[in-house]
Amino acid sequence: MSLIFYSDKCIACGECVEACPFGVLRLEGETLVIGDGCNLCGACVEVCEVEALAVPETEGLAPRPETPPDGVWVLAEQRRGELAPVTIELLGEARRLAEVLNVKVAAVLLGDEVAHLSEALLYAGANQVYLAEHPLLADFVEETYAAALTELARKFQPEIILAGATYLGRAFIPQVAAALKTGLTADCTAFAIDPEKRLLLQTRPAFGGNIMATIITPRTYPQMATARPGVFKPALPAAAPDGEVIRVDLAALGRPRRSRFVSTVQEIKERIPLNAAEVIVAGGRGLKEAKHVKLLEELADLLGGAVGATRAAVDAGWIPYAQQIGQTGKTVAPKLYIACGISGATQHLVGMQSSDVIVAINKDPQAPIFQIADVGLVGDLFEIIPALIQEIKKDRG
Ligand SMILES: Cc1cc2nc3c(=O)[nH]c(=O)nc-3n(C[C@H](O)[C@H](O)[C@H](O)COP(=O)(O)OP(=O)(O)OC[C@H]3O[C@@H](n4cnc5c(N)ncnc54)[C@H](O)[C@@H]3O)c2cc1C
Repeated sequence: MSLIFYSDKCIACGECVEACPFGVLRLEGETLVIGDGCNLCGACVEVCEVEALAVPETEGLAPRPETPPDGVWVLAEQRRGELAPVTIELLGEARRLAEVLNVKVAAVLLGDEVAHLSEALLYAGANQVYLAEHPLLADFVEETYAAALTELARKFQPEIILAGATYLGRAFIPQVAAALKTGLTADCTAFAIDPEKRLLLQTRPAFGGNIMATIITPRTYPQMATARPGVFKPALPAAAPDGEVIRVDLAALGRPRRSRFVSTVQEIKERIPLNAAEVIVAGGRGLKEAKHVKLLEELADLLGGAVGATRAAVDAGWIPYAQQIGQTGKTVAPKLYIACGISGATQHLVGMQSSDVIVAINKDPQAPIFQIADVGLVGDLFEIIPALIQEIKKDRG
């Protein structure tokens, strides 16, 4: 599929060339040339005043109806019968958006024996709870959850679907968006509505957090987004909930599946949750081996802090994912952050650069971490950390 160009309408104004974020368009004299690499983003179509450019309709793509039949949906994320806090946060946000659109808010609750959670969802502002209970939904399996939500969305056709950017949401919401042939903006930090066009304005950090991008889904629906937990204020509980629970049976659950649930392995919890820690001692690839994590733990214990990690240390299997800090991990802002054997890649920095005081220990004086460190210790962490531990112990008698 390629961009449609009506050469007879083109006035060679060059607006589209300026607007193309990928540098695909160029003017050769009075002729517009469309190079390779067009991903049909439509930026050129938006600016073309003479309508010389158009994006082809995708076969099977759900067009945006004039009046979408249903409102703003929130995935009611639950694990073992407990609602994830992000659900209540998103319900608050959904209410705000739904008021502008003048539509209802619905929570979608998938699970087994989870009906008791409906009340909390109604109290948090849902006008409707779509409840699908089935033994196959008892444990989270991406394929099953994706099939269930896709079927519901096809049936009731929401205008917007919001979900938490949790490991669960990140795992299956993209599959739903792909199945519905619509867009998805991940990890949003703000939402607004363009009331005239009924568009959801989805804002999220881009380019390693250096700019905020506002993304729209102008041609397909539902408009789908995930949001980071903890960004939005939880919905205030209603004095008297005014909503209904709609039980739904899903045909998708009767179909053969390629994956099945085998067992759950519970990860050992961090001692102090990273988000609550005032001191974080984080380690990276410079730790060399899993056994050296003990060094970090000893220092963290002495300072009453938690242990964090880079993705390199997590991927190596030395530190659990729950302790990963950065773009695909947690965002933290402790009073003291001690980075040990961490180079300072942008993807790590975006998760910790708001820390009050950053101490970096690295044997490479050129390591980028020193650019944001308040205190830089150039040297071998296997000498510096034991020396720090010794000093602290000595100091405390
Ligand atoms: C889409 C995407 C998302 C990502 N998300 C994240 C994320 O959420 N979090 C994250 O951290 N990364 C993330 N990354 C990975 C990131 O780009 C880096 O690869 C990673 O942060 C590097 O980790 P590191 O600093 O531990 O390892 P390295 O970059 O290998 O650095 C190791 C450092 O240790 C130092 N060192 C070695 N030995 C010693 C010693 N004995 N004493 C002192 N210093 C020593 C070295 O000088 C070096 O600077 C992501 C990448 C991508 C592409």
